[in-house]
Amino acid sequence: MKFLIHTYGCQMNVRDSEAVESLLIAAGHELAANEREAELVIVNSCTVRQKAEEKAVGKIGNMIAEGKITGLMGCAVKRMGQDVFKRLPKLDFAVGPRMFGLIPGIVSDLGKGGERLFLGDDNIVPQGMDAHPQIRRKGTFAEVQSYVTVLLGCDNRCSYCIVPDVRGHEYSRPAREVIAEIECLAERGVKEVCLLGQSVLRYGVRNEAWPGENVPKAEAFTRLLRELNGIDGLERIRFTSAHPAGCTEELVSVYRDCPKVCRHLHLPVQSGSDRLLKEMGRRYTREEYLAAVRRLRELDEEFSLTTDVIVGYPGETNEDFEATRSLMDEAGFDNAFVFKYSPRPGTRSAALEDDVPKVEKERRDQVLLEDQERRGLERNGRLVGSVREVLVEGPSKRNAERWSGRDGGNRIVVWDRVGDERIGQLRKVEIIEAHAQTLIGRCLH
Ligand code: SAH
Ligand code: SF4
Repeated sequence: MKFLIHTYGCQMNVRDSEAVESLLIAAGHELAANEREAELVIVNSCTVRQKAEEKAVGKIGNMIAEGKITGLMGCAVKRMGQDVFKRLPKLDFAVGPRMFGLIPGIVSDLGKGGERLFLGDDNIVPQGMDAHPQIRRKGTFAEVQSYVTVLLGCDNRCSYCIVPDVRGHEYSRPAREVIAEIECLAERGVKEVCLLGQSVLRYGVRNEAWPGENVPKAEAFTRLLRELNGIDGLERIRFTSAHPAGCTEELVSVYRDCPKVCRHLHLPVQSGSDRLLKEMGRRYTREEYLAAVRRLRELDEEFSLTTDVIVGYPGETNEDFEATRSLMDEAGFDNAFVFKYSPRPGTRSAALEDDVPKVEKERRDQVLLEDQERRGLERNGRLVGSVREVLVEGPSKRNAERWSGRDGGNRIVVWDRVGDERIGQLRKVEIIEAHAQTLIGRCLH
């Protein structure tokens, strides 16, 4: 059957969709060239904010209206449970985030009148975690870059967050299995991997990641990075997301010792107000967060730091908001994602009144985005005149005469094509101009 998968939400959803794509192809199905051609459309959904859920549900609704065979997978399924069929009575099947390995079997049983909802329990490990589509992606950046999920679920309980309810308990995949998977990717030509986990520095905390190998739990993740750094052919190692509690001296020494580990960290702060951090259950103070930032920037002042911030959390005063603004300045973020608070059913903060008016949330969002624009420009401006090592991603979307890639800090670098660039090469690019979100450079031979 010809199929297509539409993906909403985070990198982990992107990764889960890739695994499903690979599993379906292994089961004899074919990836459709476009939506019109597809008989089966699967939507991988997000539920972290209400808007995200509405988008995914809206999309699958359209596919049902067009008469496609349809499946919904991912976080929104787990949140809605049976209600998903009240909202979408004609949906053919719905599969929770840790059940995607069942999809090929479900598809082959379609029309037999069996079960349509597969939620699974919170500890299941999906089949097909190591299924990758690289081989079929010749000539695109996806051929040389790969996500690898290392930690499933989340055992933190941040007050606003629905992720632990829908993605279940933490489970660290065995380190030897992860290493074997990445060695295999590197042999196939993958140059960059990004290790995924909701709070990836908790790798190996809930369950043993190095059975029988005498690795202290506190070093499970850093040991993994050190081993991956030795894989031939692999050029870059990234990971996301990180919780500041795991930003230890040992992690800093990995950055110092391992040249393949990129000097970029996505370190969501959420708020700069100690009062709100406490209410959110983030388990760090503003000062502890800034201390983590200092450790990284002392190692390398160009260390690239990005973050997530929530505006309009229940009870957020203007003073709290100003504390977030000043923290963002002190931390000097290279990029920031700002989210307007959205109450999620069943979370602790959903019991609080969502009392920051919509227009005020929007104002705070705008203010932070403008601050970040200025800050991004200022941070990037310091790189003018320097030479960055860039992993080539391909022609820029807007202008094929321009090529783009990213430096180790995950900054987008664009240059006029010299002619012999190849996707997946590392090239030296001299920076000649800086924008808030992009660097313009000259590719050196
Ligand atoms: N596991 C990641 C976060 C996953 S959710 C981490 O802890 O780093 C991605 C981002 O969405 C969060 O960092 C937060 O900024 C935002 N977010 C989560 N729940 C939200 C909510 N209820 N309303 C608004 N933003 C939210
Ligand atoms: Fe959500 Fe907090 Fe877990 Fe991140 S660490 S997924 S914000 S509960």
